[in-house]
Amino acid sequence: MTGVPILQLRSLTKTFGSLAAVDKIDLDFDEGEFFTIVGPSGSGKTTLLRMLTGMETPTSGEILLRGKRINDLPANKRPTCMVFQSLALFPHRSVGQNIEFSLKMKGVDPATRKARALELMSQLRLPESYYSKNVTKCSGGERQRVALARALAYEPDILFFDEPLSAIDYKLRKTLEKELKDIHRETGKTFIYITHSLEEAMVMSDRIGVMRGGKLIQVGSPQEIYSAPHTKFVSEFIGDVNIIGVTADGTAQVKAKEFGASLKTPAVPEGFGAGYLVVRPESLRFLSKADEAQNCLEGRLYNEYVLGSRVQYQVRVGDHVFIVEKLRQQAFGGHRDDKVLIGWDADDSILVTD
Ligand code: ATP
Repeated sequence: MTGVPILQLRSLTKTFGSLAAVDKIDLDFDEGEFFTIVGPSGSGKTTLLRMLTGMETPTSGEILLRGKRINDLPANKRPTCMVFQSLALFPHRSVGQNIEFSLKMKGVDPATRKARALELMSQLRLPESYYSKNVTKCSGGERQRVALARALAYEPDILFFDEPLSAIDYKLRKTLEKELKDIHRETGKTFIYITHSLEEAMVMSDRIGVMRGGKLIQVGSPQEIYSAPHTKFVSEFIGDVNIIGVTADGTAQVKAKEFGASLKTPAVPEGFGAGYLVVRPESLRFLSKADEAQNCLEGRLYNEYVLGSRVQYQVRVGDHVFIVEKLRQQAFGGHRDDKVLIGWDADDSILVTD
C-alpha cells in the first residue's frame, strides 16, 4: 500500500425515485490496498460498485481516478476490471483461451498472447500444463485463479469483485479467501471487493467500509471494525457479541437496563443518556471471586456449545443471556444451572449509542 489515493469518491450519490441507494459517500481508496465494502442486503453495495465500474451513472457527486473525474466515462473506457459474482468463465474453452480473451479482442498476435497467458498462469500458480485444460475440468480454486488471470490480462488498475465467493461452499470459500489475499499481495493491484459477510471481509482486507441504508457508516482496519465499532449495528455485524442496554447514572459508570447492575466502562461521553455496552465473548471470563475483574455479575450456567477449538457458554443474569467464549484447552468445567461469576474489565468494553 502506498497511501496514495487511486480512486476518490466525493459525496457520491445515486437515487432511484425518492430512494437514495447510495447517499453522499466520501471515500479514498489507496493504491494497492484490498478494500472491502460490507453491508446487509439492500444497503447499496452493488449500486456503489456499478457506479465505480461505469455500469451506472451517479446522480450527483464525483468519482476521481488518479485525480481525473470519470463520472461519465463508460465502463469499457475505464482502466478497471470487474470480476463477476459467478466468476463466469467461458465453459468448454481451455484455460489459455479464457485468459487470452481480452488480448485476442485487442488483436494481439497468438504467440504474444500465449506468452502473456503463461506468465499470468505462473504468477497465479497454475501449472503450465493447464494451458490446454478445459476450464470445466478445473477445481473451484483453480477456476478462481483462471478468472483472476483473465481479469489481470486486461492490465486493470483496479480489480472489482462482486461477491465472488457467495455461491461456494464453506470449506472451499475459506481456502479461496486466503488465496485471494495471497494473490492480492503478489500482484500489488488495488482490489475493491463487496460482500455481505464481514467475516469474509475480516480475513482478506486491509480496510473495510461498512454500509447501511446507502451510507458509509464506518471505515477502518479489520481490527478497528472488530474491536472498536462505532455503533451497535457494526458490532453485531460480526460474530457473537454481548450487547447490554445501559443508561447513564450520572457517574463514571452506567446502569444495565435489564438487570440493574452498575457497570464500569471506558469514559462515558459528555451528554450520554442511553446506549449499549458491547463486550466480545472472549473478553468475558469466569471468576472465582468478585474482585478478579472490574465488572462482576452472578449468573447461572445455561448452555455449553463446543465450536471446534472453542467452547461457548451461555450464562443467564436475570433475563439477560451472556455469551462467554473460551479456548477448548481453557474450557470451564461447570454444569448446567451452576451458579457462576462472570466478569470483564472496563477497557474490554465499548460504549455505543446506536
Ligand atoms: P444485495 O446484497 O442484496 O445485493 P446491495 O447492498 O448490493 O444488496 P443494492 O443492490 O445496491 O444493495 O440496492 C440498494 C437499494 O437500491 C435497494 O433498496 C434496491 O432495491 C434499490 N435499487 C437498486 N437498483 C435499483 C434500480 N435499478 N431501480 C430501483 N431501485 C433500485
